[in-house]
Amino acid sequence: MDIRELQRLDAAHHLHPFNDNAALAKRGTRVLTCGEGCYVWDADGNKLLDAFAGLWCVNIGYGRPELGAAASKQMTQLAYYNSFFQCTTEPTIRLAAKLAELAPGDINHAFFVNSGSEANDTILRLVRHFWAVQDQPRKNIFIGRHNGYHGTTMAGASLGGMKAMHGQGGLPIPDIHHIEPPFWFADGGDLDEDEYGLLAARRLEDKILELGPERVAAFIGEPIMGAIGVYIPPRSYWPEIERICRRYDVLLVSDEVICGFGRTGQWFGAQYFGFQPDIMPVAKGITSGYIPLGAALFNDRVAGVLKDAGGELAHGATYSGHPVCAAVALENLRILEQERIVEHVRDQIAPYLAQRWAELGEHRLVGQARIAGLMGALELVPDRGRRAFFEERGKVGALCRDIALRHGLILRATWDSMLLSPPLVITRAQVDELFDKAWKALDETAAELGK
Ligand code: PMP
Repeated sequence: MDIRELQRLDAAHHLHPFNDNAALAKRGTRVLTCGEGCYVWDADGNKLLDAFAGLWCVNIGYGRPELGAAASKQMTQLAYYNSFFQCTTEPTIRLAAKLAELAPGDINHAFFVNSGSEANDTILRLVRHFWAVQDQPRKNIFIGRHNGYHGTTMAGASLGGMKAMHGQGGLPIPDIHHIEPPFWFADGGDLDEDEYGLLAARRLEDKILELGPERVAAFIGEPIMGAIGVYIPPRSYWPEIERICRRYDVLLVSDEVICGFGRTGQWFGAQYFGFQPDIMPVAKGITSGYIPLGAALFNDRVAGVLKDAGGELAHGATYSGHPVCAAVALENLRILEQERIVEHVRDQIAPYLAQRWAELGEHRLVGQARIAGLMGALELVPDRGRRAFFEERGKVGALCRDIALRHGLILRATWDSMLLSPPLVITRAQVDELFDKAWKALDETAAELGK
């Protein structure tokens, strides 16, 4: 393989998502070639410990032949059929039933799409429809959170609260509002975490009252805010959000695109925090990233109204319930269940990782080491004594990320938070390797900063 030629072609023809494409073209992209368990290899032959599971998604690890076999078998038997026109396929049906079994409470109904973003688009449209057919067309406002991430489509990016995304393409679309996220490190002041969690949740109540409960259709949030920097809310936050949603009859949407399928040591993030959503978008871990698939999961109440409303549900995609994607998802879920991978996270690896992560938290560059299950962040700070950020945010994080990569460790940096989300199959020895490499990267970053 001629890597330089590939990089040249990439720069000439490929626009990369979430990148400064001009800068990237000068720098050259990294071409990944294969993966096994928690490791990937690049075209230069570097072996990298992928502590980010691709993009929070390769839950069962790389290189499981069973998923390829499931795809191949389904492709050979029936590569495609749609779920329009009174039709569907066996894997699609079985996956819907399996998700009903796994999802908490009475979340028993799946609408299939291709990604997390499309799941959130689906939810926006169907929830507005849900209220409209009950003679409440004005109950159409969604409340999300500043700096939340719900995808990249018009609705997904609008529901999310990323300023840079809103700045491109005329977003947010109408009738979407945002409240401040729960981030004690920056916002908690002198409050203890649980007091702060209640305060942060009550911003939702204030917003509902400001807009009028008769206008508010739903609240959407990630159980743990991922992309912005793994903001883990205090334990008091979600039960209070749930109470507020119930009080004003606002539907509660738990965006499980990252937290779903074992990331926290529970099947879903809502279970980790002990609340019951009405609706859950899922994607990523549903197939461990082996093939694109997303779903919007609805409880009996919402699905019941959508079914009983009569008339056509004017929504759907060519690949809604694609049989090959469904077959791969079923095989992935079989592996997660039969190999007791979620229990492995909860009982074995998460406690050990938490211990080692706390040790990294002792490093002179780290102001906070947050972790829940296998999702964590190290907040790099100029001064350990204060909960404050670097003046020029993002430079130190990028430096640390690049140094870690040179040591064979993939971490993601959002501003100066070093983010962690390894495959769920990570072993204790690999956690130790992760610790050693991360510590070295922190040391060298501190040295470059003259600390
Ligand atoms: N919701 C959350 C919480 C996410 O983290 C993401 C993607 N990182 C999405 C939605 C969008 O998913 P996708 O990229 O598959 O469209």
